[in-house]
Amino acid sequence: MRRPGLALKLSVLLMLGVVGAMVVDFSLTSGTDMDRARVLVFVSIALAMALLAAVVLDTLIIRPLVRLSAQARRMEDRGYAEPFVPTGLDEPRELGEALEHLRQRVLAEREELQRLNAELERRVEERSLALAAAQRALVEGERLVAVGRLGAGVAHEVNNPAGVILGRAGLLLDDAATPEAAEDLRVIMRQAERIREITGALLRLGRPSRGERGAVDLAAVARSAMELARHEAVARGVTLELSCQASEVDADAAALEQVAYNLIRNAVQASQEGGVVRLHVAGSTLSVSDTGSGIAPEAIPHLFEPFFTTKKLGEGTGLGLAVAHGIVRDHGGTLTAENLPERGARFVVRLG
Ligand code: ADP
Repeated sequence: MRRPGLALKLSVLLMLGVVGAMVVDFSLTSGTDMDRARVLVFVSIALAMALLAAVVLDTLIIRPLVRLSAQARRMEDRGYAEPFVPTGLDEPRELGEALEHLRQRVLAEREELQRLNAELERRVEERSLALAAAQRALVEGERLVAVGRLGAGVAHEVNNPAGVILGRAGLLLDDAATPEAAEDLRVIMRQAERIREITGALLRLGRPSRGERGAVDLAAVARSAMELARHEAVARGVTLELSCQASEVDADAAALEQVAYNLIRNAVQASQEGGVVRLHVAGSTLSVSDTGSGIAPEAIPHLFEPFFTTKKLGEGTGLGLAVAHGIVRDHGGTLTAENLPERGARFVVRLG
């Protein structure tokens, strides 16, 4: 039944008509003229009131209800945008208010759903990017491990001939015929010594750490790491400086060397040509400072996170500081970073 208002109106009118007809029939068949006139007046008033009641019923209840139900039916099609306007007597008005309340809740929940959806999409996107970066870093990491192994192999092969050159040059030096020949032999010995220093450092870095602790000279560790990084520093026109006092700490030497190497390498890469990277060892503290670009403010909160890098694809893995941080933490120490007031950055390792 699509129009309950019309049906109701018709039935009320029909009912009143029947009652009126019965009363008129009754008054025409019995009673005096006076009685008939009174009955007719009564029936006319009753009919007029019934008509009035039907009109009032229609305007204040039936029509508002019909309007509300039609609007409720098209609510979804119009995207819940059309507000319900409560009209009529108490019941349709209350129904209108309830529907309006419902509409507003649906709208608010829709908005919340859209927000959550957008948030979800953003997170999925973020995680996908992080995953892609992690995969790239993994590939890069594997490549570095392979290069490291190769380096250690080459270092091993080079170390022995360098030792032989050093030994033979030493023997020749004892019988040098002229001062010039002696000087040449000293140059050969210095360079051979340097080759052994570099290959020795490479071998130490390539050797997997067994986590063995012992008395370690932090200054020697810093010197060895510096030798490893020297080639890159020279290629970039960056000077390396070391100031230290001999200091003994209880540590895993190979692991500490990796920390120092990672810090020096970062400092060299952050420097421009003509820049200086300074290593300072005092007590159980090692600091590496540079005159480079300084740490980008947005990078500071993420420095020690694995795979965080601001370097170009293929240049950085974002693992150097994370690994260094892990090693220092395993030693019960701290690794901190700060930008220097003049320019550049300083990384400080404090062993516990
Ligand atoms: P990677 O060197 O592969 O980027 P790291 O974990 O070693 O990974 O370094 C993470 C980031 O920290 C670098 O990308 C760089 O933004 C910043 N950083 C590290 N050392 C320095 C430094 N000495 N000066 C400026 N920024 C640095």
